[in-house]
Amino acid sequence: MAKLYFRYGAMNCGKTASLLQAIHNYEDRELEILLLKPVIDSKGEDKVVSRTGLERKVDHLLLPNENLYRYLTLHDEGISCIFVDEAQFLKRKQVNDLMRIVIKDDIPAICYGLRTDFLGNGFAGSTRLLEIAHTIEEMKTICRCGKKATMNGRRVNGVFVFDGNQVAIDGEGKVTYDSLCPECFEEENRKYEKAKIYQKTRKSSNNR
Ligand SMILES: [Zn+2]
Repeated sequence: MAKLYFRYGAMNCGKTASLLQAIHNYEDRELEILLLKPVIDSKGEDKVVSRTGLERKVDHLLLPNENLYRYLTLHDEGISCIFVDEAQFLKRKQVNDLMRIVIKDDIPAICYGLRTDFLGNGFAGSTRLLEIAHTIEEMKTICRCGKKATMNGRRVNGVFVFDGNQVAIDGEGKVTYDSLCPECFEEENRKYEKAKIYQKTRKSSNNR
């Protein structure tokens, strides 16, 4: 029986390179696959691009409220595997749709994505995948201190920030991400809070 897989990891853990390698293994054997990506991520547009330079065109960009069950029912004939990049951006219902297709059409689906955002909160898609996927696999990466990185620190103009919207795409404007261990994440969070209090007291003393 086919399974729904969720392979998660922090930023820069090689998710995309691993996804492209897995696709290559299928296509090398002349097996057809479908590569889907939620449209919210504008990086690379309709292409999946790994940091190592590999790339592949996405077969379908998924709209936020698109009925994934219907789409796959119409398009999964002869398909050996369904791949989803940036799966954290799926809606809960779309993950449910994916599971229904895996069971109904007996096609495996492999999702790659982040577990949590820059504040350590779950994304809708990844939270649902953690709840229902048959198989959950962690892809490991290393923090600057050498420990395992599980958090995604957001930097704006090089400075770690702990305020803002859940979605701010890597490389757009001055936003970048660093994978951190919980200790280093907490250290940066404390620094940020301290700087905020310092700025507030400076502002109020200037107003006096
Ligand atoms: Zn660390």
